[in-house]
Amino acid sequence: MNTIAFIGLGNMGGPMAANLVKAGFEVRAFDLSQAAQDTAKANGCEVAFSAQEAATDADFIISMLPAGKHVRGLYIEDDAPLFDVIKRGALVIDCSTIDGDTARSVAADGEKLGIGFVDAPVSGGVGGAQAATLTFIVGGSVAEFRQAKPVLEAMGKNIFHAGDHGAGQVAKACNNMLLSILMAGTCEAINMGIKNGLDPAVLSEIMKQSSGGNWALNVYNPYPGVMENAPASKNYQGGFQVDLMIKDLGLAMDISQQSASAVPMGSAARSLFTLHKAKGNGKLDFSSLMKFYQDKEGES
Ligand code: NAD
Repeated sequence: MNTIAFIGLGNMGGPMAANLVKAGFEVRAFDLSQAAQDTAKANGCEVAFSAQEAATDADFIISMLPAGKHVRGLYIEDDAPLFDVIKRGALVIDCSTIDGDTARSVAADGEKLGIGFVDAPVSGGVGGAQAATLTFIVGGSVAEFRQAKPVLEAMGKNIFHAGDHGAGQVAKACNNMLLSILMAGTCEAINMGIKNGLDPAVLSEIMKQSSGGNWALNVYNPYPGVMENAPASKNYQGGFQVDLMIKDLGLAMDISQQSASAVPMGSAARSLFTLHKAKGNGKLDFSSLMKFYQDKEGES
């Protein structure tokens, strides 16, 4: 069985590494946080002293880090970069949500050393990471995609090949920009209905079965009490934080600027979520934008 180095054992990476162990892979894990290391050990990972120790001789190196600067640092720019120790023929699978430029430049540096690279950002959140039902959106060559697939299948349900290096990050940014627009529109429509005397549950059902139906109405209703298991019914705890949505919308805005793509709806959604964060809601689930529409003057 192949050996996998797993770097970054946070909310997403921790359960993903645990699922690789369950699937029978030998997982050498590393995180800067001691608590994350302890959890990984309890889940059956072998904890390494450093990222370099984990990556030496590994067949696959998976990273799940906050942003592009962490990924570039880990493989190329830190004091002990992983590209100094990763063996030829090994494949780097970076699952972090980062900018496409960083993904493409790390892939190009790896290629010079005979090391493969795919960007493989995920959709599905912490719940999907725990249940091994994530969607992986992969950028890389066909051969690299085939090499990565059996490993990704141990952590996810839908594995897509979006195109060459960086394409996974672009597709992920397109999806999350659309999601932010759908959520903002759904909150806006429900709020207008309530202000005109409609019951939010009745209105949601009407729109769900009509031409306004969308993912937010189907599985993630933003109004408290309409959907029992949605974050809205749990004080907007859990789920996908406003801060992370704003990060993803920033990546989408960069892509739109570089490619001269008009994104008036995405820009508006980004401003709405940023105003909502400014009122102290950055750590709440992104469906809490409902509160933004409902807040009365002077209230936060
Ligand atoms: P997190 O902050 O919980 O975890 C990141 C981990 O990386 C931390 O444990 C941190 O200690 C570790 N780390 C940072 N630099 C390191 C280094 N140089 N070496 C070793 N460990 C290092 O973040 P998360 O929620 O797990 O998200 C990770 C990535 O997944 C992000 O890019 C995020 O945008 C993306 N993502 C998150 C979600 C979600 O719902 N949380 C959903 C989809 C995608």
